[in-house]
Amino acid sequence: MELTGLHLLLTYECNLECDHCFVWGSPLQKGTMTLRHIRHILQEAKALGSVKNIYFEGGEPFLYYPIMLRGIQEAAGMGFKVGIVSNPYWATSEEDAIEWLTPVSGIIHDLSVSTDLYHSNEELSQQARNALAAAEKLDIPAGTINIAQPESTESEAAYGQLARGESAVMYRGRAARDLVSRTLQHPWHEFTKCPHEDLCNPKRVHIDYLGNLHICQGISLGSLFDTPLIELCRTFDADANPVIGPLVKGGPTELVRRYDLALGKSFADACHLCDMARHALRERFPDILRPDQMYGLSSS
Ligand code: SF4
Repeated sequence: MELTGLHLLLTYECNLECDHCFVWGSPLQKGTMTLRHIRHILQEAKALGSVKNIYFEGGEPFLYYPIMLRGIQEAAGMGFKVGIVSNPYWATSEEDAIEWLTPVSGIIHDLSVSTDLYHSNEELSQQARNALAAAEKLDIPAGTINIAQPESTESEAAYGQLARGESAVMYRGRAARDLVSRTLQHPWHEFTKCPHEDLCNPKRVHIDYLGNLHICQGISLGSLFDTPLIELCRTFDADANPVIGPLVKGGPTELVRRYDLALGKSFADACHLCDMARHALRERFPDILRPDQMYGLSSS
């Protein structure tokens, strides 16, 4: 496994609680990195040698602004390209957004702002407009993340009609609970591959405050606070992993078959079936299917 990108889940907390969120971000969530955690991760990334990009995201990383800022400064100082993903609740006016963004201008290479009907009552919220305008003034490369409503993709034909820049919902995390009733369901045996992650040779992983290296949110390859990142990468064997192995072999369908799970007959997409199977397997594989936050439970 040769990682080029680490996405730091600075916190599981968020000021919002969106239906489509696959890390269950919420004001009630717990679990935030400290500066010591961030420094440890950056050192591990440096030692690995292949990592080029570090992202700060969440939850909502601007909730811990001073810690995010220091982490960004130190990551950039170590030679990483740095990005941020934010909702951006803080951009209450263009003028104020400039104040928030000035400390990161000239340091970050990307600001991705989430804006869609899950985040506000407009597809391009006023906060997103303010953040994008401020970023332009400060010469910060910026773009939007816009997730379509379930009904937009409920037929195969509709997939091609998503608006430019829009992505379809992935029915995992909170979306697997709250949005699946709004789209078509498909037979469980059709989901024979993972459509979104390169599970054999991932280039980008997410890391949370426990050090969990998530190949997909809620599937941990171990904690880099327990085992050096170099070691986690060197010993990674997708086929031998009891959760990832079946997913590689035959997608979520194979995961269900391998462990003889009784989950029902139809699902919104591969992630929906995968999410349900992983919930059913958590007790069996607690060291892989973790932490509680990724399964909709708050932890201290
Ligand atoms: S199928 Fe499973 S492993 Fe693949 S992206 Fe969806 S939830 Fe993640």
